[in-house]
Amino acid sequence: MTFEQSEIKERLQWLVKLRWIGCIGVLVVTHIVREIAGLTFPLIPVYIILGFVALYNTYFQQRLKLPETDLLKNTIRQIGFDFLVLAAAVYFSGGCDSPFLYYYIFHIVISGIILPRKWTFRFAIIAAALPTTIMGLKHFGILPHFAVFRNEPMIFTDLSVIAAYGGVFISTLLLTAYFVTYLSDKLYKKQEEIRRLYILSEKLRSSIVMDEVIKTVREELSSLSGKANMIYMPLDRNKLNLVYDDGQNSLIIPITNKNIFTDTLVTCEAHTLESVVVNSEYENRVFKTLMKDAKEIAVLPVRAAFSSKCYDYYHCPPNTGCAAYGSDDKRCWYISGTHCHGKIMRNITEKIKECVKCDMFVPVGIFIVDITRSSRFEAKCDLDACMRLLDAASLAISNAKLFEKTLELSEIDGLTGVKNRRTFLKLLDSEVHRAHRYNKSFGLMMMDIDYFKQYNDTHGHPQGDILLKLVADTIGDNLRDTDTIGRYGGEEFIALLPETNKDESIAIAERIRNEIESYNFPRAETQPGGKITISIGVSSYPEDGDSPEKIIQSADDALYSAKNMGRNRVMAANVPII
Ligand code: GH3
Ligand code: MG
Ligand code: MG
Repeated sequence: MTFEQSEIKERLQWLVKLRWIGCIGVLVVTHIVREIAGLTFPLIPVYIILGFVALYNTYFQQRLKLPETDLLKNTIRQIGFDFLVLAAAVYFSGGCDSPFLYYYIFHIVISGIILPRKWTFRFAIIAAALPTTIMGLKHFGILPHFAVFRNEPMIFTDLSVIAAYGGVFISTLLLTAYFVTYLSDKLYKKQEEIRRLYILSEKLRSSIVMDEVIKTVREELSSLSGKANMIYMPLDRNKLNLVYDDGQNSLIIPITNKNIFTDTLVTCEAHTLESVVVNSEYENRVFKTLMKDAKEIAVLPVRAAFSSKCYDYYHCPPNTGCAAYGSDDKRCWYISGTHCHGKIMRNITEKIKECVKCDMFVPVGIFIVDITRSSRFEAKCDLDACMRLLDAASLAISNAKLFEKTLELSEIDGLTGVKNRRTFLKLLDSEVHRAHRYNKSFGLMMMDIDYFKQYNDTHGHPQGDILLKLVADTIGDNLRDTDTIGRYGGEEFIALLPETNKDESIAIAERIRNEIESYNFPRAETQPGGKITISIGVSSYPEDGDSPEKIIQSADDALYSAKNMGRNRVMAANVPII
């Protein structure tokens, strides 16, 4: 347990002040007692002790003014000197019934609120040992009896009196040490938690990117739990698996598998697990590969701030046979073993499967923290505090999620789900730079649905929209992952084919044209030829242009000639008619 340096300093300054007050108090009281009670004891020992106290008190007062003072050492020395002085005071004032004995207890409290627990107990033992030694030495006559206030040598001849005084004194010391360390431990933890929460909120205020938010949460969680060893497993994009990959080890946990990790995610409650009681292969693998030295782990849910449980409420369209669909608030709320999406959900696994389809699935991942204690005396990781920290972060996590979603929406075309024109042109621009730098080629396709106006006029715009989406999907299905498709205009699509030369681009375009022609689109029979077809213009970098504008222009010219040649065909820029 440690306090902030500034706080320790404040407490030590307070101790120095108290010591001055104590010195003056003792000086005054000694003289008053001498005068009023008429006791004639020598003042020399009193002056020697007070002089010594004044000396080291001045020294420590000066040292505290220096910036580099080691405060822990300073505290230990101050209390050590006080203990010696108190031992002398106990001896001169009467031994086991000396009023100075009680100042030991006061010092144990001081130690408890400044020093780590082990030091407080060490001082408690020293505080018990010093007066006991004095009493023992007096009892055996090794030290001459000296009592300022009362001259009762009888006390030191009667062992049962010494034992009674000693018993009360020692037990009071130990109890004080126990209570004060217990209370200051609690106080420190709370203080640390509040400090962490404050730091977290300060840091999160400046961050809206998910990775940064999680990094910040991780740092604060790590300091709070006192453990650096922890991993974060987010839910993947499809919300079907918890994933971890650090380049060396990877793990994928399907959320339909029942284990402590998925339980944590679904119930949004923290769980702990010891390596000796694993129940699933995933739990075993976490201990063996990801958390090799851990004997016990805590699994903490990370959630966005919408709701508490994933299956409390989520969107369920009407007329899907969902028994829990509330017609008032237009959503399912609390699905408990009934229907959803027209299916019966018999168990939690099925519920999760349904839940993951909806946007209200609030958990975003889990933290796995090593909470193995190296000794029985080591403080347990405070899971409640960790959860409070994660709760405090959930608003920032929600914002980061919303931001991710907003970014995604700003890049895609709402109707077809492909990249919008602006994003596509940005990607094309960087591809031109890349290809130029690395001396590569790439292909570009402009695609336009034939006689689309006629389809629209015959079946209406909503049906036209459906066809647009289906055509976009079909084109996308026939491209590689590295290719990019965008919506260039109304029913015109554009595709970028990196690392592809002209011949390959033409071949890909021909395949897409063919796929569209043979695909069974709804209500295609009203179109010329009884089918939906597209025309494609192909151009390629660098031969058809060295800038995005020129390459697009070349592809558009080729598309124009494809239309003029009778549609449903592929034309390439600067290539004789196929
Ligand atoms: P061509 O074979 O020469 O390409 O003939 P076309 O009828 O396809 O050509 P035109 O460019 O004249 O028609 C395009 C039509 O696409 C006109 C417009 O109403 C329709 N359109 C553009 N955007 C959308 C959209 O988002 N949804 C729907 N349903 N129709 C759209
Ligand atoms: Mg058209
Ligand atoms: Mg058009």
